[in-house]
Amino acid sequence: MSTKLIDLRSDTVTQPTTGMREAMMQAPLGDDVWGDDPTINALQERCASMFGKEDACFVPSGTMANQLAIRSQTQPGDEIIIHKDSHIVYYEAGGAAALSGCSFAIANGNRGFFTSADVRALIRPDDFHFGTSSLVSLENTHNRGGGSIWPQDQLVDVCETAHEFGLNTHLDGARIWHAAVASGTDAATLAKPFDTLSACFSKGLGCPAGSIVAGNKDTIKKVRHFRKMFGGTMRQSGILAGAALFALDHQLERLQTDHEHAKILANGLHSIDGISCDASTTDTNLVFFVIDKMLGDGASLCRKLMDNGIMSEALDSQKIRYVTHLDVTREEIERAIQITADTVAHVSN
Ligand SMILES: *Cc1c(COP(=O)(O)O)cnc(C)c1O
Repeated sequence: MSTKLIDLRSDTVTQPTTGMREAMMQAPLGDDVWGDDPTINALQERCASMFGKEDACFVPSGTMANQLAIRSQTQPGDEIIIHKDSHIVYYEAGGAAALSGCSFAIANGNRGFFTSADVRALIRPDDFHFGTSSLVSLENTHNRGGGSIWPQDQLVDVCETAHEFGLNTHLDGARIWHAAVASGTDAATLAKPFDTLSACFSKGLGCPAGSIVAGNKDTIKKVRHFRKMFGGTMRQSGILAGAALFALDHQLERLQTDHEHAKILANGLHSIDGISCDASTTDTNLVFFVIDKMLGDGASLCRKLMDNGIMSEALDSQKIRYVTHLDVTREEIERAIQITADTVAHVSN
């Protein structure tokens, strides 16, 4: 019998590697609230240049990164044009409304994408009855869209339209490095159409915590002000920046392995009776699959999978998500397919 549970719930479950722990131990530290933590400063400079932006600010989480970008570029009463399945809409505890007084103008579309025509249709006319459209927010890769990578032309078109109407653009790039590695496009090119972006070190890069917000100097100055207001300043946080710098040097290119594993999983799952999984839209490390009604609902199948050694998450009644990451080996990927097949065969008998 197998021993260890295969944890496919998320790429956030990774443990810091030995090399990362070593880098954290050795990181020179200061007090970042005084601005003199050398490792934080090095990370912020590195990220600003990597994304082709003037400045960057380290923050505890991706949620805070997004919320700071929103707070710094909107006024209460403003509307944010955003896809209905976005993390900011779905998983940030209503933060945009609570912290910035903004509401959403909702775009629809497959896989988390929308078009410049959607943006035009959602921008409020200049009329005192309406809220002010001030920000368009995109997600790349798109989490609930299945780890999908925006077609770059479409993304540029959406952002150009936003700018044409005087709106700012924000990228929720929690998994921007997945998009960069999988598409072979450098991060600066992916970031270029955006006034601000957020990115997470605690997802595929394998860090224990930390995210970054990048943008121009004036906006990042505001981000620093609101980071203080939101309670997100930290002191010897270079210990986390040390992990992030290590990840950028040593654990970035290997995302390709997670993407290969995801394709293997997708094809393997699709070959199981009662499961359908589209490998051609499995762009990165998130594998979404749909289960037949005869297998029950997603949550109950997840519980059975758990009994047999796989931790996973049900996204809705018939959809389950497996996520590949640093702590899942090729052998475990093969085993996960086998366990899923056995579990499903047992349920349908
Ligand atoms: C994970 C994630 C975030 C931020 O999550 P935190 O848990 O707050 O770090 C933001 N956007 C997307 C798309 C994500 O997947």
